[in-house]
Amino acid sequence: MNNKIHLSLIVPVYNEENMLEQFLLSVNNVFTQREEISLEILFINDGSTDRTLDTLLRLQGADPRIIIIDLSRNFGKEAALTAGLDAASGDILVPIDADLQDPPELIPEMINKWRQGYEVVLARRNRRDADSWPKRFSAGCFYKIHNRLSNLELPENVGDFRLLDRKVAQALARLPESSRFMKGLFAWVGFRSAYVDYARPTRRAGLSKFNSWRLWNFALEGITSFSTIPLRIWTYVGSCLSLLSIIYACYHVLRVLFFGIDVPGYASMIVIMSLLGGLQLLGIGIIGEYLGRTYMESKHRPIYLIRKIYNAGKQDK
Ligand code: UDP
Ligand code: MG
Repeated sequence: MNNKIHLSLIVPVYNEENMLEQFLLSVNNVFTQREEISLEILFINDGSTDRTLDTLLRLQGADPRIIIIDLSRNFGKEAALTAGLDAASGDILVPIDADLQDPPELIPEMINKWRQGYEVVLARRNRRDADSWPKRFSAGCFYKIHNRLSNLELPENVGDFRLLDRKVAQALARLPESSRFMKGLFAWVGFRSAYVDYARPTRRAGLSKFNSWRLWNFALEGITSFSTIPLRIWTYVGSCLSLLSIIYACYHVLRVLFFGIDVPGYASMIVIMSLLGGLQLLGIGIIGEYLGRTYMESKHRPIYLIRKIYNAGKQDK
């Protein structure tokens, strides 16, 4: 009993009523034969508006390993994951999507790596055929820009699906920020990491909850959370422009001194003014992005709120 590995699966769910049964079936297929693993499946209901919670409660009736954390509203996947990581009691924790895009069949292989002494085992997609080309292209650009701008190297083609040792989860719990860009936080805490490769399948049912606008905001969150270069860049842009303006001013003063006043110059004035106006607004916009985030952080609001925890093993809280 004592040398059993206690594994927590952390499954954020948002309107996934059609996926839950299939998901559990796949998980059971993987783990029924493995006596050495004791499993706990934490579903975090992220404010679903369909029958996800009812379905979960029904499934829990037949399977006491299921724990349901019902959040008070939709807080987003990152917050749901945080709620799961905080509540999980396993020796190893695996965040996994409910749509079977993260195959549970990979977990035994990850556990083998963990046994070799790795504290983090990342599932790396060796193909992204499941994603459309604009998504692949924009994801590629994001990783390039992010890794350039911040000191933190985000591993490419890696999602939230990974195995975490309890130590890593405890380290994550110590990060106080309320903007949870999980991929970045996972990378920030470090620890010894290994990779397991897989081909990412398409979603089995339902639709992706991440549209282009949400992904764009996610990318902004990622970059602003881990880099201040977009802020500092304006010092350099400003310095270069000031230097150029001084040179340009000298040129004009000398020209007026030697050749007299010559009025035309409307076009060049307009071009320079609009260029400078645009650059200034851009700079202010970027400062605004950071200021807004600082403001939100300064409120110290909780990352998520729980309506109720349904735990068949223990009394409901
Ligand atoms: N999810 C969530 N809250 C949200 C959006 C998504 O808990 O606000 C969950 C969703 O139920 C799924 C996982 O996060 O289990 C991944 O979502 P999705 O498949 O839509 O993302 P994609 O695979 O397209 O990146
Ligand atoms: Mg998905």
